[in-house]
Amino acid sequence: MLPLADDYGRVATDLRVSLTDRCNLRCSYCMPAEGLDWLPDDQTLTDDEVVRLITIAVRRLGVQEVRFTGGEPLVRRGLVDIVRRTHALGGVETSLTTNALGLQRNAQALRDAGLDRINVSLDSVRRETFHEVTRRDRLDDVIAGLEAARAAGLGPLKLNAVLLRGLNDDQAPELLAWAIERGYDLRFIEQMPLDAQHGWSRTEMITADEIFDALSAEFTLTPHGAPRGSAPAELFDVDGGPATVGIIASVTRPFCGDCDRVRLTADGQVRNCLFARDESDLRGAMRAGASDEELAQRWVTAMAGKLPGHGIDDPSFLQPDRPMSAIGG
Ligand code: SAM
Ligand code: SF4
Repeated sequence: MLPLADDYGRVATDLRVSLTDRCNLRCSYCMPAEGLDWLPDDQTLTDDEVVRLITIAVRRLGVQEVRFTGGEPLVRRGLVDIVRRTHALGGVETSLTTNALGLQRNAQALRDAGLDRINVSLDSVRRETFHEVTRRDRLDDVIAGLEAARAAGLGPLKLNAVLLRGLNDDQAPELLAWAIERGYDLRFIEQMPLDAQHGWSRTEMITADEIFDALSAEFTLTPHGAPRGSAPAELFDVDGGPATVGIIASVTRPFCGDCDRVRLTADGQVRNCLFARDESDLRGAMRAGASDEELAQRWVTAMAGKLPGHGIDDPSFLQPDRPMSAIGG
């Protein structure tokens, strides 16, 4: 086994696999209303290529968790089969980050394929606000997807929310009350500079401290005892527990020192960080006939050069060329 170690003592064991850069929503913090120039099919990894790279990661590189993401992973036709083949490798946890559109149809098949967990993105439970943030009137589908996932045994379900100033930043307590009532675990994520249209601004973003204050106006939050480890969320008990809420301060209190992630894009590029400016091309090597051993070695080399932190607050910070939807969030 070759660990995916870097020069700062971190070892990546959590692989994020983007299955597509396409999406059926247009969240304003992620992509423009007109969408993006999607990857051509011939540049996108086939199902067999994705499974081959995941197999190398699990069997040779010590990866213990595989999270499927995108773009929207549910729009990838081969998703259930890819999950089944990943689960069949044994010794690996599988999870999915999704907007839940179409989850109602697929939840049971995903569970039967061995999927362990699901994270659903939901920024508002008000129909008009949801429409405004995502530019689609699909809140009912998300709620139906969540219920189907729970019925299929895919719990505990996690919700991810991003707050945007003037859009939904007044709705944090309402979203938390809604989640608690239904037994979903809610986490707020600070908005990061990863949108395709470069609209992020450090002064406009809602900070973790603001989120904490907004929630504290209606709930009593106390630090949750369990050690955080490499988990990015600061976890709080809500009104004494057992309900909790997470706040992920990716920008204002980065957790890069504990990062255990590595990313594979839908076109077969390894990224050692969301904010990396370099990628390592496994697709090209694979299609040129590289052996599993050579691909593993290439992957190890790509991880070794991981920078100590994302440097968003550095004056020299440059947003990566690819947006979140193409990298895999
Ligand atoms: N489409 C799926 C979804 O929305 O869950 C998976 C991909 S999406 C890129 C993964 C996560 O990234 C979502 O929870 C989304 O809210 C989050 N995200 C997207 N752009 C972001 C940004 N600029 N800052 C913070 N989180 C972002
Ligand atoms: Fe699509 Fe997810 Fe981006 Fe929203 S955050 S546009 S659901 S990829």
